[in-house]
Amino acid sequence: MKQINHFINGRLTDPSQGQYPVYNPALGEQSGQVSLASQDEVIGAIEAARDAFPDWAETTPLNRARILFRFKMLLEERLDELARVVSSEHGKVFEDAKGEIIRGMEVVEFACGIPHLLKGEITEQVGRGVDAWSVNQPLGVVAGITPFNFPAMVPMWMWPVAIACGNTFVLKPSEKDPSAALLVAEWLKEAGLPDGVFNVVNGDKVAVDTLLTHPTVQAVSFVGSTPIAEYIYSTASEHGKRVQALGGAKNHLVVMPDADLDGAVSALTGAAYGSAGERCMAISVAVAVGDIADELVAKLADKARTLKIGNGAETGLDMGPLVTREHLEKVTGFVDKGVEEGAELVVDGRGHQVPGHENGYFLGGCLFDRVTPEMTIYQEEIFGPVLCVVRVPDYVSAVQLINRHEYGNGTSIYTRSGGVARRFVRDIQVGMVGVNVPIPVPMAFHAFGGWKRSLFGSHHVHGMEGVKFYTRRKAVTARWPDGDLGAEFVMPTLD
Ligand code: NAD
Repeated sequence: MKQINHFINGRLTDPSQGQYPVYNPALGEQSGQVSLASQDEVIGAIEAARDAFPDWAETTPLNRARILFRFKMLLEERLDELARVVSSEHGKVFEDAKGEIIRGMEVVEFACGIPHLLKGEITEQVGRGVDAWSVNQPLGVVAGITPFNFPAMVPMWMWPVAIACGNTFVLKPSEKDPSAALLVAEWLKEAGLPDGVFNVVNGDKVAVDTLLTHPTVQAVSFVGSTPIAEYIYSTASEHGKRVQALGGAKNHLVVMPDADLDGAVSALTGAAYGSAGERCMAISVAVAVGDIADELVAKLADKARTLKIGNGAETGLDMGPLVTREHLEKVTGFVDKGVEEGAELVVDGRGHQVPGHENGYFLGGCLFDRVTPEMTIYQEEIFGPVLCVVRVPDYVSAVQLINRHEYGNGTSIYTRSGGVARRFVRDIQVGMVGVNVPIPVPMAFHAFGGWKRSLFGSHHVHGMEGVKFYTRRKAVTARWPDGDLGAEFVMPTLD
């Protein structure tokens, strides 16, 4: 059985007392166990990061970028190795695991431009003989707490920008699929990153609470479910930290009557069932506008019934299992609830079996029609391969529906009308919007983040927002006078 520990101050540690089981979800078997850090072990990681900070902050941005560049080359060479690890603990198909790593690598590539991104501003002669400029300086020790669904990509939304800016980092990955973070830590060291700049502590609430309350930690980035995001935001803020906490989602895709229906159906199928629906940007609600609903549902049903489901390690599959038995039961419970509350279950994936993988945590694609806003399956995030179709009469009702939902992470519209699409982009109360693009995840040089209860804090992640989150501004006003300018008792106006 694989024993997974922590990476502190440039070294893999010994096991902790507390342990948590890690599974291969396709086989339904325990594949390892992960150490749950005690408070003292987390403090050890924070102190390693604190001690590494002064030298790292003194390292030139160009040299920090060069280390990231070497890491990027290692990551490219070892993409398959990391993707296999992600697939084996998360369950997603191998090609999808590679996709998440490449999307994460984009942030590393963005952070390689840090000498340019960190540049401040200067104004010469703000007063006679007086110049003013501003610089962006690192915060110190910063922490990241990440979810199970993107064990490589989501941490890479955070740490490349944080360390490029000169901070040192403590990452607390999900205990469900912890191995990817440790490989990354080892490869960063190999790329030349000094010990203590990037640390990984595995653990549960004990580890998280230590990061949220320790006075040395200056900022916390979190991605996960909304109740925990809210807890992280309030606790870390109370302890004086800068926080960005990204939460859950319920993403709608609007199909207008003039849309290319086959194109919309294909897009919906990939966006709803890819990664077994365990994506914060997965589409979980299809909003059928006008009289296209019957045809849309019939076409979606054909696709949902013929999904290729199996062990993510094999090739040619559309989706793998859910992450744990507990999560499979939770998602199945939502499907039961939908039936109970009167939605029409057009395709029932419950009890799906994959030959040779009878213990795997598989659920077939599920499709509900005639879902209404009062139903639990509409209101709550299911985080599984369950697509709900809501029928609305017109564009205005589609926008009202989406704007009333408590989440506002992503949304999309399929239409051939530029005017309708433009109006949608302006009307919709959601942080990331797609036009004929089902999953509008911004590239690394833009920022990622939702609205409403999908994000707590004022910064989105990566892009210039990331640089701003991980730095603080210092404004300097300077002059070099030739003699005593005398005491000034009135507010200087520098004219
Ligand atoms: P989660 O909230 O259960 O866990 C996230 C992290 O918080 C993990 O590291 C976990 O160990 C820790 N945690 C869990 N319970 C805690 C507690 N009581 N106190 C302190 N820490 C705790 O989320 P998950 O199930 O791992 O991931 C799925 C969720 O993440 C979904 O809701 C999904 O929408 C969301 N997500 C959001 C985004 C986004 O960008 N908005 C991206 C990916 C995932």
